[in-house]
Amino acid sequence: MRFADLVDLFERISATTKRLEIRALLAEHLRGVSESDIAPMVYLLQGQLRPEYEGVELGLADSLARRAIAQATGTPEETVRARASRSGDLGTTAEELLRDRTPPPADRGLTLSDVYQELTSIARSSGEGSQEAKVERLSKLLGRATAVEAKYLTRFTLGKLRLGVKDMTLLDALAEVYGGGEPKQARPTIENAFNVTSDLGEVASTLARQGTLEALRSLRAQVGKPIRPMLGEREATLKDVLERMEGQAALEYKYDGLRLQAHVPRDETEPVLLFSRRLENVSSQFPEIVRDLPKALKVRPAIVEGECVPVDPTTGELRPFQEISRRRGRKYDLERFEEEVPVRFLLFDLLLEGEEQALMLPYPERRARLERDVKAGDRVGLATRAMVEDVPAAQRFFDQALADGCEGVMAKSLAPGSTYRAGARGFWWIKYKREYTHELADTIDTVVVGAFWGRGKRAGRYGALLVSVFDPKEETFPTLCKVGTGFDDSSLERFTNELRSKQVKDRPEEVVSTLTPDVWIDPSTVLELRGAELTLSPIHRAALGRVREGYGLALRFPRFTGRVRDDKSPEQATTTDEVVHLYETQVRRAESESSSEGSEIEKAASGAKNPHDTS
Ligand code: ATP
Repeated sequence: MRFADLVDLFERISATTKRLEIRALLAEHLRGVSESDIAPMVYLLQGQLRPEYEGVELGLADSLARRAIAQATGTPEETVRARASRSGDLGTTAEELLRDRTPPPADRGLTLSDVYQELTSIARSSGEGSQEAKVERLSKLLGRATAVEAKYLTRFTLGKLRLGVKDMTLLDALAEVYGGGEPKQARPTIENAFNVTSDLGEVASTLARQGTLEALRSLRAQVGKPIRPMLGEREATLKDVLERMEGQAALEYKYDGLRLQAHVPRDETEPVLLFSRRLENVSSQFPEIVRDLPKALKVRPAIVEGECVPVDPTTGELRPFQEISRRRGRKYDLERFEEEVPVRFLLFDLLLEGEEQALMLPYPERRARLERDVKAGDRVGLATRAMVEDVPAAQRFFDQALADGCEGVMAKSLAPGSTYRAGARGFWWIKYKREYTHELADTIDTVVVGAFWGRGKRAGRYGALLVSVFDPKEETFPTLCKVGTGFDDSSLERFTNELRSKQVKDRPEEVVSTLTPDVWIDPSTVLELRGAELTLSPIHRAALGRVREGYGLALRFPRFTGRVRDDKSPEQATTTDEVVHLYETQVRRAESESSSEGSEIEKAASGAKNPHDTS
């Protein structure tokens, strides 16, 4: 495939914001792409070189890219800098500078494979002299590129391609191409393959190799590839939880820590890998789990999931979540922190057991096997659980969970269909947390999309942030509220500094807002908020029209809890569906509180065909 063809697709995608058009363009261009080209094509469309969990980055700073452009075009670096600061985009500057030059002959044009190999070499070069080598390679590549190709190459190397092609749109396009004329039916199969491998490039090349959906059967859970996590829904009362679960459920402690998916390879000489909830490889941050988990497991290879919680080493009691957050993202002093913040890994799921795809088994069987396969000890244990069939028993277990330092319980369905639903949020798992009187039953994870400058004491710093939730259908971030409470001065100062690098000139396309903040912020930081209630809002755009025509939902009296959810990507923030569900729960609660004793609690109004499924 010629790189020019891919760039033509980039151009056409950049010219529209309509998801359906993007999907049609993708389908048109994916059709007929060879097995070897399709994975690089998919990764580049995502602005990546490899699946996200591998964390491969080009590592080129603006200054290096400027040098490469200067070399490739024979322009003084100062001129490149000046023009870039005028255009606000180094990619556009590269394009303009190259346009003045005679274009390379068409027969010497770049192929996708040339470009992909070169970019991979740039990403790989490390150590002394590597920066120079990167500049050299990039400038040679730019020298062979046409002006418009150079624009995208530059943006890509800076990590600023930002075509707005979302995973879900790519999945739709693949369903269009390989779904045998029935894209709707094909879509879940393709999405499931993605959820299990977290690698769209692999899904696409598997499809291209055989041309049919059947091929995806070969994609299975495997050590080294993180599986997208299964997620739970919420209910407001234990009675609702039990009704959803048809009168019988397993309740597990809901620990407040970090979710980890641990991959234990068959070969004992190979290291254990730990992935976070957003599929980052965090193995180096928890060396004691890497070391001790294999000793506690009686089977390998294996993939298990659990919550990593801080514990008091003498009593074994749980410690507050905030302690473990001190270990997140740490690169140095790991040993000291291992000692200062001891952790325990409490397992709640089994996804691969030896050669068997345990994730296909119903929950009761997975849990039974987990109990069989784990030798519990100081470092590794099993999530505490009980089987319940009535509200008083559920209440007792819940009270015990709180007394033991948990934030609530996770109810797990015992139904035959309770397989591990990778990447899906549904009622197969229901979380029930402590009720906060006169407060929303749960916190909301929001994405910062803008900021307002502070006044008075807060002058020179942000005074409030504009935050959004995520709409997975539209792949947008509609606003939910402005929040300025719950930040102390030092945290506002920190946010101002940290978010400064994420400020952008115009409203990011995926942000839906009627308000214009003082600065727009590229959606990436997730903050946990608490609030009094959800209200209908003519201003905010979250779940627009879902409850009432022309109105969105807004969070009233929002307050930052002090918790930055850096374990969540923006797409993993609270969704518009969840906000609607929370709103309905709140309405139901208010109705049941005000109505006479013994009144029937309204059945949940989810409209889902299966009582469990909302995904
Ligand atoms: P929250 O914001 O409440 O942590 P979440 O959005 O991260 O929730 P949910 O599906 O809503 O994800 O809640 C499940 C989370 O609870 C899991 O991601 C996991 O980190 C945590 N957890 C703690 N104990 C358990 C358990 N026994 N089973 C499943 N998940 C558990």
